[in-house]
Amino acid sequence: MEKKIIDPFLPVDEEGYYGEFGGAFIPEILHANVENLKKAFERYADDEEFNAEYEQLLKDYVGRPTPLYHAKRLSEHFGTNIYLKREDLNHTGAHKINNAIASVLLAKRMGKTRIIAETGAGQHGVAVATVCALMGLDCVIYMGATDVARQKPNVERIKMLGAEVRPVTSGNMTLKDATNEAIRDWCCNPQDTFYVIGSTVGPHPYPQMVARFQSVISREIRKQLKEQTGRELPDYVIACIGGGSNAAGAFYHFLKDDEVKLIAAEAAGLGIDTGESAATMQLGREGIIHGSRTLVMQTEDGQITEPYSISAGLDYPGVGPLHAYLYTSGRADVTAVTDDEALAAAMLLTRTEGIIPALESAHALAVLSQRKFGKDDVVVVNVSGRGDKDMQTYLSRIES
Ligand SMILES: *Cc1c(COP(=O)(O)O)cnc(C)c1O
Repeated sequence: MEKKIIDPFLPVDEEGYYGEFGGAFIPEILHANVENLKKAFERYADDEEFNAEYEQLLKDYVGRPTPLYHAKRLSEHFGTNIYLKREDLNHTGAHKINNAIASVLLAKRMGKTRIIAETGAGQHGVAVATVCALMGLDCVIYMGATDVARQKPNVERIKMLGAEVRPVTSGNMTLKDATNEAIRDWCCNPQDTFYVIGSTVGPHPYPQMVARFQSVISREIRKQLKEQTGRELPDYVIACIGGGSNAAGAFYHFLKDDEVKLIAAEAAGLGIDTGESAATMQLGREGIIHGSRTLVMQTEDGQITEPYSISAGLDYPGVGPLHAYLYTSGRADVTAVTDDEALAAAMLLTRTEGIIPALESAHALAVLSQRKFGKDDVVVVNVSGRGDKDMQTYLSRIES
């Protein structure tokens, strides 16, 4: 039987499947919670008053629309036309705030008083703690102990904002482990607690919901590109992929325009064949992680492999079901970018345009060196965040 597609742009059906990926694989105790979330999202996704409040905050609090910047020196360097979507200029320094605001607005309408979240690089933790300060809600952030150590400035920001940081010491103490703990917390506190997931992962409706809350990125790109070039459609949109939220936002309004090529950059760490990588789509097999059927890095007998990337925001062994589908169906092209390639791309952007990108975003920028683009091509790169949080890594790894 044909399944009904429930989103105007995403290929997602009523049960939350993108082709064979997605769904909602959750413990019994969370069923009512996830059902209620689904109902609330359906109720408010197109609600006029909800969206008016969301858009007002995006404009006056976050500083949207973010610029679409024609990077002339970088374009010259690569012999093509490069436009940077400046999500790094959002309040708190990354795209994560777009989703955090909408999710917390939804939580408030559901009568929730306590917000929990997981974080890797700390950007989602900062974004959620920020919105909780803004709206006067209790906030607990789960973060792997490895990430607590390597993302210190963000840990300090979260604390100053009044949220509690709970370091997680299981596994390799990164994003996967923080997500496990957040889910455990949600199971224990189903009544008052809302779980704000930071990416297009987790059980349905999260991947769809987070993609929708990030879709403002591509809505703006279309409009801004039209104003600047007279054409609404670029030839390429490039974004990095951890769980896939900034890529989902940058791709969303182009998904149905087949002439727009979509390129996702995943983290190859030390190299895709070294055993030290987070190239989930190219190395993964179908499996279930955090409530969703998707591509998962795993051993022969199905144990999840510990991922590695220099970038804490891409260090995740799964990927959102939307991206697993876009990749396997051929709609999006996936490329793997090593730590060294990302570091070089960050340095190049810094020295040609005076923009220090987040290490995650540097993976998207590195695609410019991997591929050859035509001199008339219009290439949009989503700069998902700024590099302040990564200064220690940059200073220790890059020769000036
Ligand atoms: C969290 C983060 C990412 C990775 O998450 P996605 O959900 O894949 O977007 C990328 N860039 C920055 C700056 C981040 O903070």
